Amino acid sequence: MVTSSTVAFIGLGHMGGPMAANLVKAGHRVLGFDLVPGLLAAAATAGVEPAGSAVGAVTEADVVITMLPAGRHVLALYREQGVLAAARPGTLFVDCSTIDVADARAAHTAVAEAGHRSLDAPVSGGVVGAEAGTLTFMAGGGAEEFAAAGPLLDAMGRKAVHCGTAGAGQAAKICNNMILAVSMIGVSEAFVLAESLGLDHQALYDVASTASGQCWALTVNCPVPGPVPTSPANRDYQPGFAAPLMAKDLGLAAAALRAGGVAAPLGLKAAELYAEFAAGDGAGLDFSAIVRTLRPGATGPEGGAHESGTPA
Ligand code: NAD
Repeated sequence: MVTSSTVAFIGLGHMGGPMAANLVKAGHRVLGFDLVPGLLAAAATAGVEPAGSAVGAVTEADVVITMLPAGRHVLALYREQGVLAAARPGTLFVDCSTIDVADARAAHTAVAEAGHRSLDAPVSGGVVGAEAGTLTFMAGGGAEEFAAAGPLLDAMGRKAVHCGTAGAGQAAKICNNMILAVSMIGVSEAFVLAESLGLDHQALYDVASTASGQCWALTVNCPVPGPVPTSPANRDYQPGFAAPLMAKDLGLAAAALRAGGVAAPLGLKAAELYAEFAAGDGAGLDFSAIVRTLRPGATGPEGGAHESGTPA
């Protein structure tokens, strides 16, 4: 029998809403807050107790979970908006947002200086995983904090990995997504090369999926329709993992690469391609739709219009 916690959940958007609902289902008391009143009302229907403010939500909490857009939102909430000052001494702060590693470390420092405990715990698995309670958490912070958060992470996901000290969860997240972006572009380029050589999509898939080209971008999120019927390519690239979210994560990776003086030419090129794609035709599409920009005749993200007329 897992002990029930009182959780303040700040940020009830696409991810936070269903994550908070899963905490309620697991028997925890959840006090929620979001700047958007409609999201607060939707969370209430799932058993989340709406709070009038973030400060109002945290005063009774053992644990404060945040699921916010970026590092500046987390730091502003903690410091300027008074959440750290309002929490009871020793409160555990778990930030599940995807944010800059440097911001994550600054958040850990601010929490410690205020007399509390903290964990960075970004997720992978998307909205589908948030709803199903099958997220993977990548955590950075102390072993005791990771253990203390365990029952809550278990209620929202199916796997939690303790990656190391402050910021290590965010570091793991951006490294993983850089692999994913580079491999998606590589798989897409291989399909485009196959098209130009007259090689059938299915034939390439049958070989590469059981050979050394095998990877998630090929066997789960295949960027051309047909070989993997559940991949977004079969529903006109409706996400899935939207290109703007990939562009955001790659922006964080690029910033970390530059800060650390790491060359990573493929990672930086992937960040550039996805930033341009997400700002244009890729805005509402799955990240695998980048294949459309790579075909002969497509001008690509760098040039604007991209459709070559070649069926995907
Ligand atoms: P979202 O925009 O749907 O939700 C963020 C919520 O935070 C919004 O509802 C916003 O109103 C709220 N908010 C912002 N500032 C606030 C404040 N000061 N107080 C209270 N509420 C505040 O975004 P999302 O898709 O739920 O993503 C949340 C985080 O999870 C992001 O960091 C994102 O990168 C990460 N993430 C998202 C996905 C995904 O598939 N959507 C997958 C993995 C990770």
